[in-house]
Amino acid sequence: MKAVVLSRTGPPEVLEYKEVQDPRPSSGEAVVRVAAAGVNRIDVWIRSGLYPVKLPHVLGVDVAGTVEEDSTGSFRPGERVLIYPSVGCGTCELCVSGEEQICSKMVRLGQHRWGGYAEKVVFPSRALVRVPDGIELEEAAAIPVNFLTAWDALVRAARIGPNDRVLVVGAGSGIGYAAVQICKLFGSTVIATVGSDEKVEQAYRIGADLVINRRRSDVREEVMRFTGGRGVDVVFEHAGKDFWDTALSVLGVKGRLVTMGATTGQNVGIDIRAVYNKRQAILGAGIGTKADLIKILDLFARRRLRALIDRTYRLSDAAEAHRRMEASEHFGKILLKP
Ligand SMILES: [Zn+2]
Repeated sequence: MKAVVLSRTGPPEVLEYKEVQDPRPSSGEAVVRVAAAGVNRIDVWIRSGLYPVKLPHVLGVDVAGTVEEDSTGSFRPGERVLIYPSVGCGTCELCVSGEEQICSKMVRLGQHRWGGYAEKVVFPSRALVRVPDGIELEEAAAIPVNFLTAWDALVRAARIGPNDRVLVVGAGSGIGYAAVQICKLFGSTVIATVGSDEKVEQAYRIGADLVINRRRSDVREEVMRFTGGRGVDVVFEHAGKDFWDTALSVLGVKGRLVTMGATTGQNVGIDIRAVYNKRQAILGAGIGTKADLIKILDLFARRRLRALIDRTYRLSDAAEAHRRMEASEHFGKILLKP
């Protein structure tokens, strides 16, 4: 089969489109023919060497496709599936309670196993989830990392509701546009930041109540004006170091700052006196549970949530897709198709 192989880490050019051996399923595993794969920040971090992996490697955490064969017999050939990307040991307390994504022995597709930048993928059959009718496989491939992370952050960690004013940082990113939609689904008010004038309009179109172009306006000033000086109840933060001080400065009394990703760096300062005086909480989030994925798919089937495909590239143009993501030119999801 054809795949995009990473033989050494470095710039986008290290992504090499070439022929590799077809993957063979072990007991308990299934082979999925890839219809589309999502491009994520984690792919860029693995490619550049920030997240070390065993080389050669094939990237791709988000995969939707059709079943070729399933050693367990749970899925018929041709069934349309999405792969839940994290598989735990299956026996520890976390796994047994449905939280295999934080199991200490968790194996992630596209990180610990070869992923979706290929014509075929092999992964444990129990990670497969049927894609409901009415959802295209391209749309399905845009869901796992972005929507599961935004869901974990907003619904599980921050427990958003209709009274919450939420600051969504980087609304044009994959998790950012997912976060705006999930906030609106739960009735929250959304203040979104973006990095260009073009993205201002796009963020309003997906439901943001106030959009701030952080390159033109002072985010803190705009947030304080909009909230009458109170600040926000929730900050959805994945920018890391560069935005951290602003994120904390706009967090109101009893506010929850939920963080993930740390795109610009993970070492930050915290005025702990301000945190306890204002009774604030700082929460961590990441990929949600497999049950969350099934819930999210149902919301997609009922058109309560939607994928926004920024651009689709051929698998052979994976380097170009990475350049677009690293330049933050995209709004929504970047996909690869074999
Ligand atoms: Zn486990």
